[in-house]
Amino acid sequence: MTDTRTTAAHGGAIGLHGIKKWFGNFQAVDNVSLDIRSNEFFTLLGPSGCGKTTLLRMIAGFELPTEGQVLLDGVDISRLLPNQRPVNTVFQNYALFPHLTVAENIGFGLKMLGKSKSEIESVVKDMLKLVHLDGRGNNPVTQLSGGQQQRVALARALAPRPKVLLLDEPLSALDLKLRKSMQMELKRLQLETGITFVFVTHDQEEALTMSDRIAVMSTGTVRQVGSPWDIYDRPAERFVADFIGETNFLEVDVLSVSGNKARVRLSSGSEIPATFPGDVTPSGKVTIVVRPEHARVTAPAAGSVLRGSVHDIVYLGTDTHLHIRLDDGSGFMVRQQNARSGDCGFSKGDAVGIDFSDDVAQILRD
Ligand code: ATP
Repeated sequence: MTDTRTTAAHGGAIGLHGIKKWFGNFQAVDNVSLDIRSNEFFTLLGPSGCGKTTLLRMIAGFELPTEGQVLLDGVDISRLLPNQRPVNTVFQNYALFPHLTVAENIGFGLKMLGKSKSEIESVVKDMLKLVHLDGRGNNPVTQLSGGQQQRVALARALAPRPKVLLLDEPLSALDLKLRKSMQMELKRLQLETGITFVFVTHDQEEALTMSDRIAVMSTGTVRQVGSPWDIYDRPAERFVADFIGETNFLEVDVLSVSGNKARVRLSSGSEIPATFPGDVTPSGKVTIVVRPEHARVTAPAAGSVLRGSVHDIVYLGTDTHLHIRLDDGSGFMVRQQNARSGDCGFSKGDAVGIDFSDDVAQILRD
């Protein structure tokens, strides 16, 4: 295979086909198939130990799959060495060379590829500009702040113009404010370079903020792939709904199904419409999920979808969480945006009704 690391990038498309990875008798990745599109910001999201890093390392070539193939633009690269793949990785700990300057760090990969001095200088200049470190090229890298060092690591990984950039929790060592600004920065870099980014994180907010699509992983398997909206608003199963933000689960009876909508009855007797994942036909008793911001608390009325009483009120600055004890004894949480007065309009112990916005209930796969 020719070395494509210096040709101007279009983002590469990654195909993972039936990937399994065993470490001794422990299976870290169990039959993962994914298609990551060219120029996409794609995130592998899941709890610690679910196999995200192992999957990333198999795309990079640092690990070989026990079974299955890794394709790049349709070509099987599963058996190529890391330096034969037009793929670069940014690590959590930056992995910069402390004895080199900023420019020397950024140009390091190009030097290894045997590029001329003038070409390296020109690319390094572009990269310094891209990551907003113009004029800092001659600084020892150790004199930079954590956020600036992370930018150098990004510039170094982008300099050879890889087709795919792999990012393994690159922001987790940064404080919250810096992390937020680097999230925007990463998104900008991906859009400006057109390189496919595959990002690993366990932070659901980070994944929702930056990604075009997200794969949610659990115990070596991919549970759902979709846009941030799909994953947050249309979770297919309990693990995904629970992992991505706070939510309410309600047991309901399916009354009828028509097209992609079902009609369900809640324990209160109310009937509401609900959507469901495309690969199931719901029937009998099922669980629906309703996000706390898609419900509102009202004075109790005959037409309320649910009824109960206010059990707790938690003020959180931008919004208030109202914890309701429903008449059937279960809990339900409503997130309500705060008014300037800071008064949420309810007190502990108040009898209340709960209404849903249209089309917010999603039936989960068993
Ligand atoms: P984290 O967010 O904590 O990094 P992760 O989702 O990236 O977690 P992996 O690092 O991919 O998880 O690890 C998946 C599982 O495989 C873990 O149980 C881990 O202990 C195991 N594992 C990873 N690498 C090896 C190895 N070289 N030898 C044995 N087990 C390994």
